Amino acid sequence: MKWALIGASDIAATRMIPAMRELGHEVVGVMSSNAARAQEYATKNGLKLHTDNLETAVSWDVDAVYISTTNDLHKEQAIAAAKAGKHILCEKPIAIKLSDALEMVNAAKEAKVVFATNHHLRCSATHRKIRELVTSGKLGTIFSARVNHAVSLPERLRGWRLDSAEKGAGVVLDIAVHDVDTIRAALAADISEVTALTSTQGLGTNGVEDSAMCIFRMDNGVLVSSHESFMVPYGTTSVEINGSLGSIRATGVMTQDPVGEVVLKTSAGEEIVDVGDRGNLYIWGLQKFVGAVNGTEEPAATAEDGIASLAGALAVLESAKSKRTVNIEEILKGASL
Ligand code: NDP
Repeated sequence: MKWALIGASDIAATRMIPAMRELGHEVVGVMSSNAARAQEYATKNGLKLHTDNLETAVSWDVDAVYISTTNDLHKEQAIAAAKAGKHILCEKPIAIKLSDALEMVNAAKEAKVVFATNHHLRCSATHRKIRELVTSGKLGTIFSARVNHAVSLPERLRGWRLDSAEKGAGVVLDIAVHDVDTIRAALAADISEVTALTSTQGLGTNGVEDSAMCIFRMDNGVLVSSHESFMVPYGTTSVEINGSLGSIRATGVMTQDPVGEVVLKTSAGEEIVDVGDRGNLYIWGLQKFVGAVNGTEEPAATAEDGIASLAGALAVLESAKSKRTVNIEEILKGASL
């Protein structure tokens, strides 16, 4: 598969280019809003082509584009790619407004190209095993879950994420959107209601939140709480799921790397679960994307997943702002694809 990168980003350089190359894909070129940065990025990452023009990038001889610009730009770039007939792997959150996300996804549908969202966590062996344990009935009736995703934002990423609301800054659009996707995938359910508090505890400026605590009611009745933060250097991330026949405690699993441990506790005692082959999360997601392009399977996280996870994150922001419980329908407002 041949790729154009839309965005001279950290995530493309650190995770996606290596993953694409590992699969034998060709990363043809990069588009940046700045011509000099495009050239420098292309040189540094060994890419043949570079441009500061979106129309040029989407007209290159490639099968797909990978969009990893700031969140405000995804819409225009995805629509241009769809119109040029290119398949689209878009970073999360897929947009900063639900109406934009719907427009992007509808453009991809009209153009009959694949649109996938790069929610990497559900691609990890640990999270796939958690979903298998839940959906197989091994835990019995599920009552509750808890996600702990409080980390320290790496120094190199302490830019627009912390001060530019117009670019989609903040821990909610950065991390809570992943947590919403994670619980939706793990529980095979959608968000129904959200109550949340956010806070600025040191890194965020211009009113941008760097910490959040959220409570979700899922549409199957499960209650979930989550904690997201950029401010916690020594925490342990985790997912816990509690059912009538068993509980899962997965530690160190809210990460980009194939690490962490899943422990299952039932009447038989505690066991460390064998999660199988711990492959690179991004490679697993790319393999599913190729399957979707070939028409043999669904992307790991579909366009609809991207929309639903964005809606959950927007409900968190709305709840924190309005200081009340927000029904997801209020965010979706009957939106359908
Ligand atoms: P970066 O800050 O590295 O890149 C975002 C944009 O910032 C780039 O497109 C680039 O614009 C601009 N930029 C980058 N470096 C510079 C610089 N030195 N000077 C000026 N501008 C610069 O963002 P991330 O890679 O962290 O995030 C990009 C997207 O990917 C976001 O949507 C984010 O939510 C998502 N993401 C997803 C992850 C995942 O695991 N799924 C993990 C991390 C991020 P231009 O292209 O115009 O040069």
